[in-house]
Amino acid sequence: MALSDSDSQITKLNNDISSLSAQIEELNNENEELKNKVNNGSQEEKKEIEELKKSISDKDAHIKSIEEQVNKLTSEKSELEKQITDLNSQKQSLEKQVTDLSAAKQSAAQQAASTASTQTSKTATAFQSKKTVRSESSSQSNSYTVYITNTGEKYHSGGCSYLRKSKNAIDKNSAIARGYTPCSRCNP
Ligand SMILES: [Zn+2]
Repeated sequence: MALSDSDSQITKLNNDISSLSAQIEELNNENEELKNKVNNGSQEEKKEIEELKKSISDKDAHIKSIEEQVNKLTSEKSELEKQITDLNSQKQSLEKQVTDLSAAKQSAAQQAASTASTQTSKTATAFQSKKTVRSESSSQSNSYTVYITNTGEKYHSGGCSYLRKSKNAIDKNSAIARGYTPCSRCNP
């Protein structure tokens, strides 16, 4: 009884041991599985993190490229603004030149007009003075100095012998106007 009891106890213990061994193995397996899971998980996470990092760096690069484009465009814009400013100042200068030229043109036209009118009036004056000269010379050609005596009713040229007693110079027209007639001897 004692031996069979011991045998059965040993058998029972063996069974327990093998059952415990199986449990241990199962736990080890589970542990391994968990370790794998952890590893895989962390690797996947690492991969995700890598991808995120890569995407972040891509985005950074993209942002950098956008910033570069913005910088380039900004500098192009300021270049264009400078050109616009230059063109505006050129335009203003040209407008000033046009204004100056039209003012000069107007002034030249005014001068020309005033010169023309001066010339016209000069011509008129010259014409008038010519007329005056002509009328003076014509009156001179009609009239010249003659001589009358204190008593006679004739007028004489300067060398006439009738002028021995008196000799008064007078304009021929005036002499005629006063009723004098030409001397028949000297025929003035
Ligand atoms: Zn006479």
